[in-house]
Amino acid sequence: MKKVFCNIFGHRYSVSKKVTQHIKEYECIHCGREVTTDVNGNLSALTPELQEINRTLENLFKKRHRAAEPVA
Ligand SMILES: [Zn+2]
Repeated sequence: MKKVFCNIFGHRYSVSKKVTQHIKEYECIHCGREVTTDVNGNLSALTPELQEINRTLENLFKKRHRAAEPVA
């Protein structure tokens, strides 16, 4: 009855994945519900669509981060 616990006390999220500096994915340590930061900075349920967007953002972020590093 872990979901009942969450209904009463609220979900307890821990970061499961860092997508960019501002966008992260979270997973509830009690029921496993996954959420992500959306473009407005709110938490939204992690749908396959948002997951796809996050993967794209993650790749863009990594590429840009790499490109920004000084060339030795
Ligand atoms: Zn929960």
